[in-house]
Amino acid sequence: MAGTAVRGRLTWQVATVAAVISETDSVRTIGLDVPDWAGHNAGQHLDVRLTAEDGYTAERSYSIATADGEPVAITVERLDDGEVSPYLTEELRLGDQLEVRGPIGRWFVWDSGDGEPLLLIAGGSGVVPLRAILRHRQLIGNHVPARLLYSSRTLEDIIYHSELDQYRDDAQVIYTLTRIQPPGWTGYAGRVDGAMLAEVAWPAGEQPLAFVCGPTSFVETVAGELVALGYPSGRVKTERFGGT
Ligand SMILES: Cc1cc2nc3c(=O)[nH]c(=O)nc-3n(C[C@H](O)[C@H](O)[C@H](O)COP(=O)(O)OP(=O)(O)OC[C@H]3O[C@@H](n4cnc5c(N)ncnc54)[C@H](O)[C@@H]3O)c2cc1C
Repeated sequence: MAGTAVRGRLTWQVATVAAVISETDSVRTIGLDVPDWAGHNAGQHLDVRLTAEDGYTAERSYSIATADGEPVAITVERLDDGEVSPYLTEELRLGDQLEVRGPIGRWFVWDSGDGEPLLLIAGGSGVVPLRAILRHRQLIGNHVPARLLYSSRTLEDIIYHSELDQYRDDAQVIYTLTRIQPPGWTGYAGRVDGAMLAEVAWPAGEQPLAFVCGPTSFVETVAGELVALGYPSGRVKTERFGGT
């Protein structure tokens, strides 16, 4: 039985684009209708495969943006010099088809039975699986203490801004803007560093569980600083999106 389930996850399936939502100037959420989807847990990802008319294929991984039990969606940031993301964000239309396989990855899944404080730290599109975790936490009515620190370049680059603000009733949502801060900005300014984490992170003595996601260099910096603050490395879960 387990073998059948694994084969299912690793088999390419045809997905149909069921929704396209513009999140920011460069970010789109793409809802996918995948008839044989086995279900996913917040924090997992899937692989997308595109095939050109001449048979050339390109594969990329994308975090699943939705909570357990919700329809599958991914949120893609356009990298102007990228091969796949400009197609997904600019050219894909409702009803188009692409291949996906998944869900993939257990390590970055949050177990809602875990009662310890949750620390979520995102850089850019790294907020995608962390949004799925917060969404799942809210949908199941879980009230474990949770804190999101989210780094974006500018106010306009904050993905899911209004949805994240809604989680403030029951979680702390803290933004930092690295490039431009609008007048009256009350969040942080600048990149996430040791000093910011010393203020924002739950004290290590509270046995928190951290999820860190974003570009590779962001994740490595943040994970290193959390370990320096006393977090055991096994309590710092990381997902690297690539790039520097
Ligand atoms: C597990 C996993 C989950 C991911 N989830 C998401 C997601 O939810 N949303 C999303 O938008 N992307 C996500 N990514 C990144 C995604 O897989 C692609 O790498 C990204 O879309 C770029 O693909 P591309 O073909 O457009 O660029 P490429 O042609 O592959 O690369 C173009 C240039 O951009 C650089 N680059 C690649 N990735 C990044 C990055 N993340 N930041 C900065 N520079 C980069 C490359 O080094 C290269 O110089 C995820 C990656 C992994 C491994």
